[in-house]
Amino acid sequence: MKLVLATRNSGKVREITEMLEGDTEIELLSLYNYPNAPDVVEDGTTYEDNAIKKASILAEYTGHLTIADDSGLEVDALHGAPGVHSARYAGERASDHDRIAKLLDALQGIPDDRRSARFVCVVAIARPLAQSETVRGVCEGHIIHAPRGEAGFGYDPIFVPTGYERTFAELGDEIKNRLSHRARALDKVRKLLSEM
Ligand code: IMP
Repeated sequence: MKLVLATRNSGKVREITEMLEGDTEIELLSLYNYPNAPDVVEDGTTYEDNAIKKASILAEYTGHLTIADDSGLEVDALHGAPGVHSARYAGERASDHDRIAKLLDALQGIPDDRRSARFVCVVAIARPLAQSETVRGVCEGHIIHAPRGEAGFGYDPIFVPTGYERTFAELGDEIKNRLSHRARALDKVRKLLSEM
């Protein structure tokens, strides 16, 4: 079956491709296969709203089963921020480096035992002209004081998952793809697809 991945985030495309690779039933396409696909404004107040909006618009555009992920980092000491605003936390044109700097600045003076956080990933699955379904994956951890590691993307260099001492950016894709929020959501997607 053809499955379109509705994102232009190369980090997400790489991870989701690695996770679904080997599933011979699925021929994975991404928005790199649809260069003229519409840009979807992520103006929802929840991950679910944004994921459903992206998946349903792109399912209609491509005519294929489509999945979209909306994800973010929730930091307890910041009352759940940046959360659904993680991508734009430091402004529209900011880099991963800017977002990390802003987050570490906001957490200055907060001790280790109050730096708990979690990555959340909601994936919506949409068929053209049909209602979407969503699944959610969560990965608990904490935020360190300075970035470490080169792998992954986004906030990976400052996030240490529970049970580990290294950041996602130090652990690398192979380990991250076993325990991440996206891996957990994708496990549920695989189950839903097998029931379709
Ligand atoms: P969106 O899902 O496109 O709205 O973007 C979510 C933002 O959350 C990304 O741009 C990253 O900054 C962050 N994010 C989501 N998942 C991850 C991850 O696996 N590692 C690091 N940062 C992430």
